[in-house]
Amino acid sequence: MPLTLDGVPRQGVCILGSTGSIGTQALEVVRLFPKRLAVRSLTALSNVELLANQARAFEPECVVIGDASKGDWLASELSGTGIRIMTGAEGLCEAASLENVDTVLTAVVGFAGLAPTFAAIKAGKHIALANKETMVVAGELVSAMLAQHGATLIPVDSEHSAIYQCLVGEPPDAVESLILTASGGPFRTRPSTTFGDITPAEALRHPNWSMGAKITIDSATMMNKGLEVIEARWMFGIPADAIQVVVHPQSIIHSMVAFRDGATKAQLGVPDMQVPIQYALTWPERWQAPHPRIDWGTLAQLDFESPDQDKFPCLRLAFEALEQGGTAPAVLNAANEKAVAFFLKDLIRFIDIPHYIERALEALADHPSQLSPEIVVEADARTRRFVQELHGVGIH
Ligand code: NAD
Ligand code: MG
Repeated sequence: MPLTLDGVPRQGVCILGSTGSIGTQALEVVRLFPKRLAVRSLTALSNVELLANQARAFEPECVVIGDASKGDWLASELSGTGIRIMTGAEGLCEAASLENVDTVLTAVVGFAGLAPTFAAIKAGKHIALANKETMVVAGELVSAMLAQHGATLIPVDSEHSAIYQCLVGEPPDAVESLILTASGGPFRTRPSTTFGDITPAEALRHPNWSMGAKITIDSATMMNKGLEVIEARWMFGIPADAIQVVVHPQSIIHSMVAFRDGATKAQLGVPDMQVPIQYALTWPERWQAPHPRIDWGTLAQLDFESPDQDKFPCLRLAFEALEQGGTAPAVLNAANEKAVAFFLKDLIRFIDIPHYIERALEALADHPSQLSPEIVVEADARTRRFVQELHGVGIH
C-alpha cells in the first residue's frame, strides 16, 4: 500500500459503475479525502466523456468501458496519460482484482454486478456493495464465498448501512427483527385506480432521492424494498419472517433493529447517499465530513404506515420469491429488470411490471439441490428470454 507524504497508507479504491448516481457520489467522497483514498480503477458501460474526465481528475491505473465499441474513442481521449484501457465485461473483473486495490465499490446496476463482485471476493478485497441485485440473486453464495476467501463486505444501500450501524457491538443472538423503512415512492398517495396511466416521466420523479433510472422505477413499484428485504436476509442472516417493512415518507430514519429485550435502535440522517458510501469506505472509522446534518428545529414530524401490498404487488412478489428460495429470487430479479426496461421504453404499462414478474415466477422458479454461479446465470438468461417472448405474444 503506497504511503502519502505524512506516512499514512492510502486506501486503493476501485469504483465499478463510476459514471452512475452512486459512482459519481463516491468520487465526491474520494475528493474529500485525497490523502487517505486513491482511485485505482474506474469502470462505466458507455459514457466515455464522463469516464475520461473522471480518469483525468483521479488518475487511476486503469479504466474499463463496458461497451467495447467505444474502446478506441476512450483510448484517444486518454492518450498520453499512461492510463491502461480495458473493454468488455471481463475488464470489470480485472479492475476489481488489481493488486493495489483494497476496496471495491460495486455501483454497477443490475445483474451485471454479479461477476465483478465474485471476482472481488475471490481476490480477497473489501467490498462496499451498492449493487443490491447481487445479494438478491446470489446472497447465499456470496455469504459462503466471503468466508471461503477471507473477503469482507459492507453495505452501501442506506437501509442496510443503517442496520449495519445499529448492529455494531451487539451480539448476533440479541436481534429480534429488522425494520426496513421505505419512502413509499412517488405514488404512495395516488389512487391505484389511476396506476394504468402512470408514465415513465412520472415514475422517474422520486420525492426524496435522486438515483439511476432503474432503481427509481423500482422505488415507484416498491420492488426496491422487496429487493432490499432479500438483500437484508442474506447480508445479516436474518429469516424473512423477522424482516418487516414500514413506510416512512420523510426518509430520515434509514432503518432499525429491534432487540429481544424490547429495545429498538434506529439510524437517522438527511437523505444523502454520500454518508453511507463514506461509511462503507471508512469503516470501522468515521471521518470528519461536511455532509448535511439534520435540522431538528425544522424537522416537524416523522410518519409511519404499513405498506399496501395490494397497491404495490411487487413487494408481495419479492417476499414470495424469498419464501420459494432456489432460483426464484434470480427469476424475480431478471423479470423485473426486463419489465422495467420495457416500461422505460414505453412498451408496457406501469401496472404490467408485476404481471410479467408473476408469470415468470410461476413458469420458471425451481429448486436445484445447491445453487451455483452457473445455475444463477442460467436462471437469469432463461428468464430474460421468457419475458422477451411473453412481450412478443402479449401478456393479456
Ligand atoms: P446508475 O444507472 O446511475 O449507474 C449505473 C452505473 O453502472 C453506470 O456507471 C453505468 O455505466 C454502469 N453500468 C450499467 N450497466 C452496466 C453493465 N451492464 N455493465 C457494466 N457497467 C454497467 O445506477 P445507480 O442509481 O448508481 O445504482 C447503482 C446500484 O446501486 C444499483 O444496483 C442500485 O440498486 C444501487 N443503489 C443505488 C442507490 C442510489 O441512490 N442511486 C441507492 C442504493 C442502492
Ligand atoms: Mg435503499
